[in-house]
Amino acid sequence: MLETFADALSSLFFPQRCAVCRKRPTTLAGGSACDECWADTAIFNGKEMLCSKCGAYFGPEGIKIRRSCFKCTDHAYARAFACGLYEKALAAELLDLKSVPDPASRLRDLIKETVLNGSAPDIDLVVPAPLSRQRRAERGFNQADIIASLAARSLGIDVDLKSLVRTRHTIPHRTGMDKIARERSVEGAFAVTRPNLIAGRTILLVDDIFTSGSTASACADALLKSKAARIDVFTVARAAIKY
Ligand SMILES: [Zn+2]
Ligand SMILES: [Zn+2]
Repeated sequence: MLETFADALSSLFFPQRCAVCRKRPTTLAGGSACDECWADTAIFNGKEMLCSKCGAYFGPEGIKIRRSCFKCTDHAYARAFACGLYEKALAAELLDLKSVPDPASRLRDLIKETVLNGSAPDIDLVVPAPLSRQRRAERGFNQADIIASLAARSLGIDVDLKSLVRTRHTIPHRTGMDKIARERSVEGAFAVTRPNLIAGRTILLVDDIFTSGSTASACADALLKSKAARIDVFTVARAAIKY
């Protein structure tokens, strides 16, 4: 009710333009992208052709067979899934989430739905991918903490925001970096501070964007070294990588 009222007020006095197409106005609840741009965004519905391990996107719909991208074979996590492709509305919402730690209700609903439908039933702990202390200080918060807390609440399980830390400040991954450069840059960059809280747990590791999977794999590696039972990965978006 309050949200609807706030929306009405906002669109009346501060008509906000869609962050994607810049043409149509949008509302607080829809977030920074308009309905048309949301409709244009590839949100996964379970029929897409994806890598059965890392979720790499091959195409919109296809025959149900196990597919592999063959790039994630040595990654430490068991399986990764996402709400949709990193484009249009999802990209705009994730950009917003880096400055405002409060996802619009449309994004909240999508995260909740994806996590409820996509998580394995034995997941018993949610852990966000950490930022370095330096990056966290610059930003004031970690957007993965916000997504992880939402995911945990949806699943009715605990979130642990403290046990996995980033021990090294690494340079952000750029599109031009190859697989080896990406993997080297995050190798050994994560550590578990409270191994007794991680041992034996089946963990959903959460981040905003899945690009090559190097970060997720390095985080999973640190958690498995602390005797976690298994690591699955949930990200809001999946970068479209050409195969
Ligand atoms: Zn738009
Ligand atoms: Zn893969």
